[in-house]
Amino acid sequence: MQEFTKFPTKTGRRSLSRSISQSSTDSYSSAASYTDSSDDEVSPREKQQTNSKGSSNFCVKNIKQAEFGRREIEIAEQDMSALISLRKRAQGEKPLAGAKIVGCTHITAQTAVLIETLCALGAQCRWSACNIYSTQNEVAAALAEAGVAVFAWKGESEDDFWWCIDRCVNVDGWQANMILDDGGDLTHWVYKKYPSVFKKIRGIVEESVTGVHRLYQLSKAGKLCVPAMNVNDSVTKQKFDNLYCCRESILDGLKRTTDVMFGGKQVVVCGYGEVGKGCCAALKALGAIVYVTEIDPICALQACMDGFRVVKLSEVIRQVDVVITCTGNKNVVTREHLDRMKNSCIVCNMGHSNTEIDVTSLRMPELTWERVRSQVDHVIWPDGKRVVLLAELLNLSCSTVPTFVLSITATTQALALIELYNAPEGRYKQDVYLLPKKMDEYVASLHLPSFDAHLTELTDDQAKYLGLNKNGPFKPNYYRY
Ligand code: NAD
Repeated sequence: MQEFTKFPTKTGRRSLSRSISQSSTDSYSSAASYTDSSDDEVSPREKQQTNSKGSSNFCVKNIKQAEFGRREIEIAEQDMSALISLRKRAQGEKPLAGAKIVGCTHITAQTAVLIETLCALGAQCRWSACNIYSTQNEVAAALAEAGVAVFAWKGESEDDFWWCIDRCVNVDGWQANMILDDGGDLTHWVYKKYPSVFKKIRGIVEESVTGVHRLYQLSKAGKLCVPAMNVNDSVTKQKFDNLYCCRESILDGLKRTTDVMFGGKQVVVCGYGEVGKGCCAALKALGAIVYVTEIDPICALQACMDGFRVVKLSEVIRQVDVVITCTGNKNVVTREHLDRMKNSCIVCNMGHSNTEIDVTSLRMPELTWERVRSQVDHVIWPDGKRVVLLAELLNLSCSTVPTFVLSITATTQALALIELYNAPEGRYKQDVYLLPKKMDEYVASLHLPSFDAHLTELTDDQAKYLGLNKNGPFKPNYYRY
C-alpha cells in the first residue's frame, strides 16, 4: 500500500516509443491477414501442437507464429512502460506468488504484456479470449511458447468459445483462486458449471460494463459469494480506455474495413457515454456531420453542449451514411431501422456485445448476405439495397487499439488483482468494490513520466485552504474529473 502514495521517479522522454508504436500498427495490418481464420480450415481443436519445451498445455491457431507474436509483444512493451515499471518494482516481492489466475480477456499484444507481468509477479495463468474475433493468433502463440496455458484463436465458433473457457477452468490438479474477466462470461461459466471453484476464489476482477452489470445482478440476488473489483468504473478505465481508446480507434477500424471518407458524411452515434464521446470527437474532427441518440438527459445535454444534434434514431435513419452503436444496451438498431436505411449505409458496433444491432432479424430468407471482407458483411434487400454490417466490436476486431491507454487499464487490473489477492480477511466482503482511489492515482502517476509531466504538490497552506488534511484520507470532491 505504501507504493500507492509514492510517485514514480522520472524516466525521461520516450519520444521514440511513439514511432515504434506506429510500426506496431503497420505490422498488424499485415498481421490481420496473416492471422485471418480463413488461412487454415483445420480447427485448432483438431491439431496436435507442442511448444519448443514439449508442452501442449494450450490451444492456439498455429504455434509456429510464436516468434512473430513475440515481436508484437515487444513492440507493445515499448508503450507500456508503466506496467513494465510495476513489473520491475514488484518482481522481487512477488505479490502474486501462489495466485492461480484464470483470465478471459481480449488476447492482444497488450494483454500479453499484462499476462506476462502477472506471471513475473508470481502468478500462474490460464487464459481464454472474451471475444471470438479479437485474438491476435501470433500473440496467443507467443504466450503458449512462453509457457502460458492459452486457449484462443481468431474466428472461434460459439462452441469453441465455451470450450476454451472450460479448458482454462476445468483442469486436473490446478484450481484457480483469482478470476480476471472481461464481459462476465468466464464468471458465468464458473457459476454455472463449477460453483465449488468459488470456495478457493479470493476475488474477481471485472473490466467491462456488461460484466460489472452481471456482477451487480449477482450481488443483488445475494448470489455473489466472493469479493469483486469493478475495474470498469474506475476512473483510470472510464476516462482513458473507453474515451481515448475509442477516440483513436473508431476511424481506424472503419477505414480499414470500408475505406470510407468521413468529411461531410452524416453519422449517427447511439449513446453519448465515454465510448460515444470518443467516437463523436474523432468523427467531428474529420468533418463528419454527427448526430447523437441518448436515453439519459445528462449525457444528451452534454452532447448538445459539445455541439452535436441530439435526435431520435428514427428521425435521421433514412439520411445517415454511418450508424455507430456504443450503448452497452441491446437491440438499439432494430430491423425497422435497418429496413429504412439508405443504400450503402454502414452499421457498426463499438459496444461490448454484438446484440446492440438486431443481427438476428437480418438472418431471414428474403435477405442475402455477402461476406466482402473479414468481419464485413453486405446484407442485400430484395430491391438491391445493401447495408454494410460490422456487427462485432469494431475497433477490437478490425483494427488495433492504442497501446498506451491499454497500459493504463492493464496496470489498473494488475493492481486490483494484487489488492484482492493480498487483502487481509474482512477487508472485502461478498460485494462489488471500486478500486481504492489512491490506486487510481498511483496508476495515473506511473504513466505521467511518459509525458515528462511535472506534478504540482499541494502545499500545507493550500491544503488548509481547501480544508484538506494533506496526508489524510482521500477527498474525492477535491479532484476534478
Ligand atoms: P456508458 O454507460 O458511459 O455509456 C453508454 C451510454 O449509452 C449511456 O449514456 C446510456 O444512457 C446510453 N444508452 C443506453 N441505451 C441507449 C439507447 N437505447 N439509445 C441511446 N443511448 C443509449 O458506457 P461506455 O463506457 O460508453 O461503454 C459503452 C459500451 O462500449 C459498453 O458495452 C462497453 O463495454 C463498450 N466498450 C467498448 C470499448 C471499445 O474499445 N470498443 C471500450 C470500452 C467500452
